[in-house]
Amino acid sequence: MNKPITLSYSSISLFLECPRCFWLDKVRGIKRPPNIMPTLPSGMDEVIKKHFDRFRQSGILPPELRGKIEGTLVSDQELLEIWRNWKKGIRYTDPATQAVLMGALDDCLILDDAYIPLDYKTRGYPIRDNTHTYYQNQLDTYTLLLAENGYNHLSYGYLLFFHPLECTDQGQVRFHAEPVRVQTEPERARQIFLSAVDVLSKEETPEVGPKCRHCPWAQQITLPAL
Ligand code: SF4
Repeated sequence: MNKPITLSYSSISLFLECPRCFWLDKVRGIKRPPNIMPTLPSGMDEVIKKHFDRFRQSGILPPELRGKIEGTLVSDQELLEIWRNWKKGIRYTDPATQAVLMGALDDCLILDDAYIPLDYKTRGYPIRDNTHTYYQNQLDTYTLLLAENGYNHLSYGYLLFFHPLECTDQGQVRFHAEPVRVQTEPERARQIFLSAVDVLSKEETPEVGPKCRHCPWAQQITLPAL
């Protein structure tokens, strides 16, 4: 029996970037050469999660969000730990294909009885007008996962951006925090997920995506005769 397909949000990101690399990874087990990834965002995520957890039980928003957004942090720490765990996360199984979509939330807000996904983002510089658009599918996916697990949502989520401001005389780096509200469309995430599952059912190697130029570049190389 074939193992059911499980796709995380980052797998879907790879599919959106290039169906061929996605297919080679999932079907043939051929992974891209590893990149040197900055570890600062992961380290910041851990620190911010602990910081937010200290405010969670008191029902008070942390200063980065207070007065800037509506709602409170979700109070069920046990549930949130499952949602944060990338081996568990929050999941949904498509009934037609039995493929599983999963996501690992950083945090979640509640307003009345509705759940609002929240993701922390650390970057080097202030955000631009379109910065949030790079994370659209992530928040669409989280809203879909909440809806499919029976949680009400409000068709929006938040990105909380951090960027460094200055280094104090004491040698501490201060960060600026800015929440950005993003409208979400869970059905858009579902369609992308199902398209990714469909690509995996194909025998032939898909075309390269429009964003990466490595394969077109490699095809143009003509090595000089020895
Ligand atoms: S174009 Fe880039 S992303 Fe696509 S298969 Fe080639 S290397 Fe991978």
